[in-house]
Amino acid sequence: MKLHIQNNFTTELPADSNEINVPRQVHQACYSYVLPKKPSNPSLIHASTEVANAISLSQEDLLSADFLNTFSGSTVYSGTKPYALNYAGHQFGNWAGQLGDGRAINLTEVVNEIKTLTLQLKGAGPTPYSRTADGFAVLRSSIREHLCAEAMHYLDVPTTRSLSLMLSGDQVLRDVMYNGNPAYEKGAIVCRVAPSFIRFGSFELFASRQDHVNLKLLTDFTIKHHFPHIKIEGVEKYLAFFQEVTQTTLNMIVHWQRVGFVHGVMNTDNMSIHGITIDYGPYGWLEDYNSGWTPNTTDSQHKRYRFGNQPEIALWNLYQLANSLYPLIEDAKPLEAILDTFSIDYEKQYLNMMQNKLGFQIKKEQDVVLIQSLTQLLEKVETDMTIFFRNLSNVTKNNTILTAFNSIKDAFYNEKDLDETILKGWHDWFEMYTIRINEEAHSNSERKEQMDQVNPKYVLRNYMAQLCIDDADKGDYALLNELFEMLKNPYDEQPNSQKWFAKRPDWARDKVGCSMLSCSS
Ligand code: AMP
Ligand code: MG
Repeated sequence: MKLHIQNNFTTELPADSNEINVPRQVHQACYSYVLPKKPSNPSLIHASTEVANAISLSQEDLLSADFLNTFSGSTVYSGTKPYALNYAGHQFGNWAGQLGDGRAINLTEVVNEIKTLTLQLKGAGPTPYSRTADGFAVLRSSIREHLCAEAMHYLDVPTTRSLSLMLSGDQVLRDVMYNGNPAYEKGAIVCRVAPSFIRFGSFELFASRQDHVNLKLLTDFTIKHHFPHIKIEGVEKYLAFFQEVTQTTLNMIVHWQRVGFVHGVMNTDNMSIHGITIDYGPYGWLEDYNSGWTPNTTDSQHKRYRFGNQPEIALWNLYQLANSLYPLIEDAKPLEAILDTFSIDYEKQYLNMMQNKLGFQIKKEQDVVLIQSLTQLLEKVETDMTIFFRNLSNVTKNNTILTAFNSIKDAFYNEKDLDETILKGWHDWFEMYTIRINEEAHSNSERKEQMDQVNPKYVLRNYMAQLCIDDADKGDYALLNELFEMLKNPYDEQPNSQKWFAKRPDWARDKVGCSMLSCSS
C-alpha cells in the first residue's frame, strides 16, 4: 500500500513542544504529536472503494495487512507523525475554551493529482485534548458516521468522507442515556477524510488567547493551501476568506434543509472551515416534517439545534468566526456587511432550492407564498418529508386536485389526522400547485426527472441506521453493506430496495437510537 504523503500542516504550523500524552492546556500550538493506541484485535468491517480511489488505493490495498494496521492505528505509516488538533469552541451557545481532538488523530495529508486530503482516525485513543474522556468511539456511533458521511456525499451534500470502519477488538464503557447505566460496547475506529479538519474553533482558540501571531499564521496557512485562488494581500485577503466561508457554510445549510438532515450539535468546533458537514454525532433525518425537531436528547429542552433553526445557528457561528478574525482586520464594518448578506442570500437560495424541489423551472417571486403554505401544512399532521417530495413528482399537469392529492397520500403517518380543515388546506394548496405547474413549459416527464434529482428516494432514516447497528453488534454486516450500496444512488429508483422507501415503523417512533440520541458515543 502506497500513500503519497505530505506534511504541510505540521511543517508550516507550530507544534506543542510537549510530546507526553496527558490532558492539558496547550498554548501557542496548532496541534500536539500523539500516537494512536494499539488496538488489541483490529478487524475491517467496511471500506469505501470510492474514497480509497481518491487517495490512490486499490481494491487489493483495502484487503492488505498494511491497510488494516494503518487505519486501525496499530502501526504508524512510514514517514508520518500523527497529531491531534488544538481548537476551542462555543458549545450550545456558551464559550467552552480549549477543546481539541479528544479522540481524533490526524495520520497524514496525502496528495492526488488534484488535491490534498487529510486522513484522520476517530476513536483511536486519548490525546492531550481528551480532558476527562477516554478517546475511544463505540461501534454504534462509528457505523452512524461511516454510513452517513458517505450517504451525504452521494446526496450531493458537502461533507467529510469516510474511508474505513474497523473494530478495535477492545471494549468501551458508555452510559448511553446518561442515566447511571453504563455498559460495555464494542470499540471502533473510523478513518475520516477531508481537505483539512480546520474548524471555526481553530481560529477562536488563538483569538480568545489574544495570540495574534498564531492566529495570523493559521489563517495565512489556511488561505494559502485551501483557498489558493485568493490572491490579494492584507485585510482584503482575510475578508475574501471570510466571505467565502460564509457562502460555503450557507450552501451547506441549504443542502441540509433540502434533504431533511439535522446535524444535532452545531457547536463552533463542529463547523468546518470548508463548509462541509463534519462530526456525525447525534444527527438525525426528518421523518415527519417538523421544523422544531432535534434528535439530540442533550438539547431536548431548548432545541437550539432543531431543524428550522440551522440557518440561524450557522449565522451565529459565523459571528463567532468573524469575532475571531477581527484582530487581523481591525474593522468590524466589512465583516458585518458580509454577515448581513447571509440572511438575504439564505432567503434567495432557500427559495431557489424549494422551487427546484417543487419542479419549477421558471422562478417566480410569488412562489414564496406557495412554499410557506406548504411548509405550514406539512407541520399540521405527521407527514413524511422524503415520501411527500418524492411522490409529488408524480403529479401531472392535467391532474384533478383530488388525483394530485392522492399522489402524496402515502406520506401521511395517520390518515385519521386529516380533519376537514386540514383537507381543505391541502385542497387549496393543490389547486395552487396544479395551476402553477401548468405555467411551466417543460413536460410532466421532464419535470419529474428534474424533481427526482433533488428529492431523494432513499435517505439514512434513523431506524435504518439502528437496525444496521443491532445486526452489526451481533457480527452481521449484511445490512450495513446493503444500505451502503443503496445509499450510493439515493436519487435512483431501486426496485429491490423499495422496502426502504417507507415511513418510519411505529416501533421506532420513540426508540433510543432512532428518534432519540445522546452525545455519548
Ligand atoms: P463532539 O461533541 O463530538 O464534537 O465533541 C466535543 C469535544 O469532546 C471534542 O473536543 C471531542 O474531541 C471531545 N470528545 C468527545 N468524545 C470524546 C471521547 N470519547 N474521548 C475524548 N474526547 C472526546
Ligand atoms: Mg466535534
